[in-house]
Amino acid sequence: MNIFNTPLTVLNGVGQKRCELLNSLGIKSLYDLIYFLPSGYEDRRIFCDIENVAEGDEVCIKACLKTVVRSVRVKNKLTISNCIIYDETGEIMVVWYNQRFVEKQLIKDREYNFYGRVKKSKGRLELSCPIFEPSDNNKGYTGKIVPVYPLLSKISQKTFYNIMASGIEYAKKLIPDILPKCVQEKFKIPDINESVYKIHFPENEHEASAARRRFAFEEFFYFQVMLSRIRKSGKQDGIIFKNLQTDFFEEKLPFKLTDAQKKVVSEIKSDFVSGKQMNRLLQGDVGSGKTIVAAVATKICNQNGLLSAIIAPTEILAKQHYSNFVSYMPECNIRLLTSSCTRKEKNDILKEISDKKVDILIGTHAVLEDNVELENLGLVVIDEQHRFGVRQRQKLINKGLNPHLLVMTATPIPRTLSLIMFNDLNVSVIDVMPKGRMPVKTYLVSESYRQRVYTFLEKEISSGGQAYIVCPLVEENENSDLKNAVGFAEELKSKIPHLKIGVLHGKMKDEEKSSVMDSFKDKRIDVLVATTVIEVGVDVKNATLMIVENAERFGLSQLHQLRGRVGRGEKQSYCIMIAKTSNEDTVKRLKVIESSNDGFYISEQDLKQRGPGDFLGTRQHGLPSISLPVGEDDLKLLYYAKQAVEEINAKILVPTSTEKQIMKYMVEKMANSENNANILN
Ligand code: ADP
Ligand code: MG
Repeated sequence: MNIFNTPLTVLNGVGQKRCELLNSLGIKSLYDLIYFLPSGYEDRRIFCDIENVAEGDEVCIKACLKTVVRSVRVKNKLTISNCIIYDETGEIMVVWYNQRFVEKQLIKDREYNFYGRVKKSKGRLELSCPIFEPSDNNKGYTGKIVPVYPLLSKISQKTFYNIMASGIEYAKKLIPDILPKCVQEKFKIPDINESVYKIHFPENEHEASAARRRFAFEEFFYFQVMLSRIRKSGKQDGIIFKNLQTDFFEEKLPFKLTDAQKKVVSEIKSDFVSGKQMNRLLQGDVGSGKTIVAAVATKICNQNGLLSAIIAPTEILAKQHYSNFVSYMPECNIRLLTSSCTRKEKNDILKEISDKKVDILIGTHAVLEDNVELENLGLVVIDEQHRFGVRQRQKLINKGLNPHLLVMTATPIPRTLSLIMFNDLNVSVIDVMPKGRMPVKTYLVSESYRQRVYTFLEKEISSGGQAYIVCPLVEENENSDLKNAVGFAEELKSKIPHLKIGVLHGKMKDEEKSSVMDSFKDKRIDVLVATTVIEVGVDVKNATLMIVENAERFGLSQLHQLRGRVGRGEKQSYCIMIAKTSNEDTVKRLKVIESSNDGFYISEQDLKQRGPGDFLGTRQHGLPSISLPVGEDDLKLLYYAKQAVEEINAKILVPTSTEKQIMKYMVEKMANSENNANILN
């Protein structure tokens, strides 16, 4: 059996419809299913006495029904069912909404295990919408540790649990191990079949974390395998640029380069004369001024008679670069190629390029298309690299003959991590902000501050400022009260009618997005309500307020990125994060943003809290990803993974030929996954 191709429909209870639901979670084969790891666990081992339950707790209760379940229809669409249950210590009301069928499933005087959250209603505690099963015949939803999967409400946890159990049963301990035996032995990594069972159905915390270690190692191992492949292919001869003179160009710029920017420029210059292909990662916090460094590099390339290509992840960003570059280098022929170019415009640009009349080509993914030929390419600049995959980057480079490569990122990789990952790569850092920047004042507030936030918003607007309001991306069938951009904009309009409000979200066409952005830049819009499409790179100096709705839904680095959209001009800027949570860990996490403006510090904290998996971004590589709580031990694992790959390369560890085949298969799977960003910066 090859579990990589085994379809899900072989499993009991998975028909066409469920199969599609699972597909939409990225689960396409039996292998994908088994590797769909829990994002956490609920400990339902301990039964709580009714007298001890407290508001807000998630509890397991063993109790009998004192009354039958009765249902009442309260509103047109709402039916409430309830009953009273009791144990030796007391009784409590149980409530379900629109689940009339529980009436038939629960019988008076019988004993059940219930699991649910305790809420307070009209001064009394009640158990809200618990799951339940007979005490004497439990199938394992209670009385043990239960996995929680990131299912985005597409499918119920209970249903998924059953599918997982039958999937693992079907695979019958025949899951192929993607780690070579020699590696497993040397680094004491547990066997895959045992680990699969224990990560999904652990008997205790210890089993879960031992299994987790295995999956984390696996992920890091393949990350390193990919890195080492890329390194091998990256040490090529490069074009030598003879004319490195940039003083004249720098003098004409509207500002002086900071020392940090100058340092990076000189590092790039030394790459340009090294005779090797430049392969440099430029890290710099949001707003630190990476664009101008890229401009200097392209200017040098231009002076040496070759074409530069700059690619950005969004049309908004590409346009912004275009207008900046045109103002920095009016003497150059600069062209903008995006998917909203008409066929004719595109053909004209391509013709000009093939006639070698274009100096600098700026664009989006459109530049990657096969019919875009860039023969005399000397330099490739990739902005916001985390949005592009290795394959996409390679595609661009292959359009020329070993062009130099500069990739820029505003998501700083923590130093500890970058030492392990990139110690033999060229990394430049802009670690000082341009002069005169004021740190953005940041506040974390709860929902109860909403009115005050709006008052503040009105004040900022009436004193001439502009604001962004960011809402989390809402999955279509996620029934939640998360703010969604479109609905929220409507709501805001009705609350503060005199504000000019615009909306920006990912489902809009590129032209629509650009036109909204233009209106915002020209101050025809006061408040831009957006999803994270505005996350990267957008530069509107007059925007002084950023409000983030449901801040608890965002990662630290992402929040820092968002905040970087303000504080770009001379005026004091503010970021207000509205969080709907009282979870201590989440609040602690968000406080990091409140207390620091330093992207590197924030990324270190992010690393501590979430582990390296998120930075490596392997989730998107078709590899399983570790999203469970992690400790700093992961760094050690990452280090081992690196050592393992080095030893395989040095033939100290020798996988069997079957194992080599499996490794090859995995690497191809990763390379072919569409969105394999981040793997090498
Ligand atoms: P990022 O690194 O986030 O891409 P940008 O390159 O967009 O940042 O620069 C942010 C802002 O800082 C821009 O408005 C840019 O014009 C300005 N800027 C860049 N370098 C300097 C400098 N040396 N002095 C003053 N302003 C600068
Ligand atoms: Mg930028």
